Amino acid sequence: MASEMTITEHKLSGGNAKYQASPNHGGKFNQSRADTIVIHFTAGSSFDSSVNHLCSEKAKASAHLVIGRGGEVTQLVPFDTIAWHAGRSQWKGRSGLNRFSIGIELDNAGELTKNEAGEFSSWFNRVYSASEVHKGVHRNQSKSSFWHAYSQTQIEKTFEICELLCEVYGITEILGHEEIAPSRKTDPGPAFPLEKLRQSVTTDRAEDGADDEFQMQREKTVIASKLNVRSGPGAEFAAISKPLLLGSHVKVIERQGEWSRIEFTQTGWVSGRFLRDKGS
Ligand SMILES: [Zn+2]
Repeated sequence: MASEMTITEHKLSGGNAKYQASPNHGGKFNQSRADTIVIHFTAGSSFDSSVNHLCSEKAKASAHLVIGRGGEVTQLVPFDTIAWHAGRSQWKGRSGLNRFSIGIELDNAGELTKNEAGEFSSWFNRVYSASEVHKGVHRNQSKSSFWHAYSQTQIEKTFEICELLCEVYGITEILGHEEIAPSRKTDPGPAFPLEKLRQSVTTDRAEDGADDEFQMQREKTVIASKLNVRSGPGAEFAAISKPLLLGSHVKVIERQGEWSRIEFTQTGWVSGRFLRDKGS
């Protein structure tokens, strides 16, 4: 994808990117470089109100970027500096992901509720038409629910910026806030194509170390009598559904160390030690 945006001195330029400094930040990243991107939704009512909130001292929160529904982008903190977006969080043995990650907030109302009249409304009582609603099962939940849809322009802008950040900083991982703080957070939620983003932006790197056996054989059979399905790749993550039973067939869609992210009626993480190739 041709990008009209560039990064100069840790700030975005071009593509109508604006800069509005937030006082809510820490020091520089170790070696001035983050290795992870964390995607969020604002759960706010507008792009401007979210930018202003994250720039107000009393919010004690920020992000590197806010991306609006029309593709507008405002940067709040330079990319070599720690922003305050992740809070208590952990991933792959590291905690406090602010120290390692670039935070991107997407203007989106978050989870919606359906009232008796069949209308969908946000927590701040705005009503959304059915075309703005995404119905889906959240990765940390077991039942489907309603979420404010992202706009296509907003998704495309997010992909473009993530591609640029990966190129410039050698980012190796793109995560949702819901994955690093699963007991507290649901953003960016099922309306955001997080897997697609990871695949389209980080595939080149992942393929460098690809394991041939894994490429060939993704259909697996559960060999434990009961196998817990968790919200993240580790025993510290909560179980998100009934355990899988011996002989269940699953498809592995991602691996991290000994943990496999699998797909069945929903997706979740299991210990790969209890999976065997289907048919073997
Ligand atoms: Zn968040």
